[in-house]
Amino acid sequence: AFEYAPAPESRSVVDIRPEYGLFIDGAFVAAVDGEPMKTVDPASEEVLAEVAQAGPADVDKAVAAARRAYEKVWGRMPGAERAKYLFRIARIVQERARELAVLESIDNGKPIRESRDVDIPLVAAHFFYYAGWADKLAYAGFGTTPLGVAAQVIPWNFPLLMLAWKIAPALAAGNTVVLKPAETTPLTALVFAEICQQADLPPGVVNIVTGAGDTGRTLVEHAGVDKVAFTGSTEVGRQIARSVAGTSKRVTLELGGKAANIVFDDAALDQAVEGIVNGIFFNQGHVCCAGSRLLVQESVADEVLDRLKRRMATLRVGDPLDKNTDVGAINSAEQLARIRTLAGIGEEEGAERWSAPCVLPERGFWFAPTIFTGVTQAHRIAREEIFGPVLSVLTFRTPAEAIEKANNTPYGLSAGIWTEKGSRILWAAERLRAGVVWANTFNKFDPTSPFGGFKESGYGREGGRQGLEAYLAG
Ligand code: NAD
Repeated sequence: AFEYAPAPESRSVVDIRPEYGLFIDGAFVAAVDGEPMKTVDPASEEVLAEVAQAGPADVDKAVAAARRAYEKVWGRMPGAERAKYLFRIARIVQERARELAVLESIDNGKPIRESRDVDIPLVAAHFFYYAGWADKLAYAGFGTTPLGVAAQVIPWNFPLLMLAWKIAPALAAGNTVVLKPAETTPLTALVFAEICQQADLPPGVVNIVTGAGDTGRTLVEHAGVDKVAFTGSTEVGRQIARSVAGTSKRVTLELGGKAANIVFDDAALDQAVEGIVNGIFFNQGHVCCAGSRLLVQESVADEVLDRLKRRMATLRVGDPLDKNTDVGAINSAEQLARIRTLAGIGEEEGAERWSAPCVLPERGFWFAPTIFTGVTQAHRIAREEIFGPVLSVLTFRTPAEAIEKANNTPYGLSAGIWTEKGSRILWAAERLRAGVVWANTFNKFDPTSPFGGFKESGYGREGGRQGLEAYLAG
């Protein structure tokens, strides 16, 4: 039998402080008032650190610092100078990549292979990419006027990567930022604050205010903010859209999804099965563009399901710091409860639930990779975002039916197509109402490509040239 006992990625590469303050005007400071909150390792339930909660007085200070830095330094700095700072940040992220990857896996629960090979390299790539833009705005035909102070609120599923998506284009365009990380995953954002210090970024250009939803609301509603960039749930996105209506703030919203991953009968089936697994079990399914609805052509459905189950039986669920782990911990007790509730509803509504046999650790938050077959479009598990490792399987007969089912959702963030026919890819991509359509791949990200939604998945684009335009006055 194959036995392999790797040394877990050493925790000794991270130095987690017992307490963290807010990062305002280039320094870590205590919150004016407000109880600190605890951040927990979801794989062990161990408390990692206490983190300050920013109240209205703290948000005022952070916005004022960002305004000063914008008016006195950053908004006037030539693009070529701003680029130097962004390149420096990118290089420090690379130098500290191992530490950042381990810390991300500890605070979030994601497998170290993903934080090491996907999250952190993409963080560096975003800073390199937007550093390259900073001195070419006029050349590329952009206006060169930044908006001012950006309020940025991000979720817990890709903590440092979502920070990079927000901060890199904002700074390249000459804006300053106040960013609020998610309450369950603040630690890599706080290390990023250290990286800003290390890069000698002028004080106030980047401010990090930790806290829960109230801190986020105070920040986006602050009168001193010119631009709001939010990634998170559709429900909170709607609240934010309402609260900024009637102001002149620019807004981009990256919200939820319920992507279809469509397998046609002519697809390379083993490759498609890998794509299905990656589509829904990558990052425990905590992915806004997760391929959470498998649409498989009836003639190959049994074969695909058979291969999918065999592949799922080989997935290793467990210690996020073990390099062999494929599926890590669920980020929080609340998220685990949400996934359990929706999976329970799937059973009550008559869909058939299946998981490969697997032993889950006793402590921590875990959910075995699960598929539901016999799902119809009326089922709640086919309509609502579960944001966990749960796949709903539906079938179709004709390509037209596949498109109709794929588009039958309030969301429109992403979709996947598996087929060997190039013409079919083009035909389907034109008809799918989704911001991103992947063909014979899934969950592929690149800083050069714009990303964003249709319908209730939000508006605005991040990444690429479009991501930069969102931070310029036109
Ligand atoms: P959430 O909306 O609950 O929280 C997101 C962030 O908003 C957190 O930092 C939170 O503290 C803050 N927040 C909460 N209430 C707020 C308010 N009233 N005003 C301002 N800020 C507030 O979402 P979540 O559970 O952290 O994240 C999961 C959701 O994010 C999923 O729906 C997922 O699809 C979505 N998401 C979307 C993308 C994308 O690019 N479209 C990427 C990742 C996640």
